[in-house]
Amino acid sequence: MSKAIRIHANGGPEVLTYEDADPGQPGSGQILVRHTAIGLNFIDVYHRSGLYPPPGGFPLIPGSEAAGVVLEVGQDVDWLKPGDRIAYAVTTGAYAQERVIDASKVVKVPDGISDEQAAAMMLKGMTAEYLLRRTFKVKEGDTILFHAAAGGVGLILGQWAKHLGATVIGTASSADKIELAKAHGFDHVINYKEQDFVAGVAAITGGRKCDVVFDSVGNDTFPASLDCLKPLGMFVSFGQSSGPIPPFSMSLLAQKGSLFATRPTLFVYNAKREDLDASAAALFEVVLSGAVEIKINQRYALKDAGKAHQDLEGRRTTGTTVLVP
Ligand code: NDP
Repeated sequence: MSKAIRIHANGGPEVLTYEDADPGQPGSGQILVRHTAIGLNFIDVYHRSGLYPPPGGFPLIPGSEAAGVVLEVGQDVDWLKPGDRIAYAVTTGAYAQERVIDASKVVKVPDGISDEQAAAMMLKGMTAEYLLRRTFKVKEGDTILFHAAAGGVGLILGQWAKHLGATVIGTASSADKIELAKAHGFDHVINYKEQDFVAGVAAITGGRKCDVVFDSVGNDTFPASLDCLKPLGMFVSFGQSSGPIPPFSMSLLAQKGSLFATRPTLFVYNAKREDLDASAAALFEVVLSGAVEIKINQRYALKDAGKAHQDLEGRRTTGTTVLVP
C-alpha cells in the first residue's frame, strides 16, 4: 500500500503521521503520479499548525511541492503519458508516495533539471519569479531588501534579483547564514540579532533606503520594514514565519512616505494556465542558464517529516529541503 503523511487534527510536528493512504484512480483530466522527491515549505507548517485552515478538512495530506513520474493518465489528458517527469506547486497533498492530481496543475520537467531540484524549486522558485517580475518589476539599479535571506525562497530570490541587476540586501540570524546568502546573490546581509536592520539598511544605502521590501517574517519585522523604504516604495508582505502582522491603519502608509503595500500569493498569480506555464518556463530558464543554482541543503525520509518541520521552524535549515518518499 502507498504511504503518506496525514494530519487528523492541528498541532505540533507530532500530528504528522505516516500511514497507508490509497491514492485512488485518476478521473477525467487527472493523472496518477509516483513522487520521486517532495519539497518542504513553510506553508506546510501553517497547514499543520492551523494558521491556514485545512482545505477540504481532515484528514489532510500536507505538502505543496513535488516532482515525480506519471503512472497513469485519466480521460482527456492528451499531453502526458506514463513515464513523463512532472513537477508542481499546489496547496496540499504532496507528502505522499503516490497521488492523483489535476493535469492542469503540473508541468513537464525539462532535461537538465533533476527531480530533486524540481521538487525543491517549483513553489519557492515560482514565488521568486512572481515577486521579482510581477509584484514589483525589479530592474537594474533597484535596491531591494529581503528578510530570511538564507531560507528556501531567499537563496533562489537572491540569485535571481542579482541576475536582474538589483542591489540585493538581506537579513539573517547567524554568520553561517550570512556567508551562504552572500554566495547566492546578496550584496549585503545584515545580522539582525546583532544590528538593528533599519539602521543597517540606512548605512548600506547612504540613507537612500530601498525601492521594495519583500517580507515573509511578518510580526517580528513589522512595522520596521516600512522604515527601510524610500518614499513611494513598495512593501510586499508575502509570509508570516514569526506570526501574522497585526492590523494597521492605512494612514501609517502615508506617514512612512506614501508607500504601497500588497499581500500576494503564488496561487493567485499562477491561477491561469498561461501564467503557470510562463512562470515555470522563466524559472527553468534561469536554472538551466546557470543564473540560479538549486542546491538541496537538507534531505529527510518522508516518514521523518515531523523532524523536518522541527528543523524548519527552529531555523536550522538553509535553502531548500527535500523529503524522500
Ligand atoms: P525559510 O527557509 O525561509 O524558513 C524561514 C526562515 O525565516 C528561517 O530560516 C528564519 O531565518 C526566518 N525566521 C524569522 N523569524 C522566524 C520565526 N519566528 N520562526 C521561524 N523562522 C523565522 O522558509 P520558506 O522558504 O519555505 O518560506 C519563506 C517564507 O515565504 C514563509 O513565510 C512562507 O510562508 C513564504 N511564502 C509565501 C508564498 C506566497 O506566495 N505568499 C509562497 C512561498 C513561500 P533566520 O534564521 O535567518 O531569521
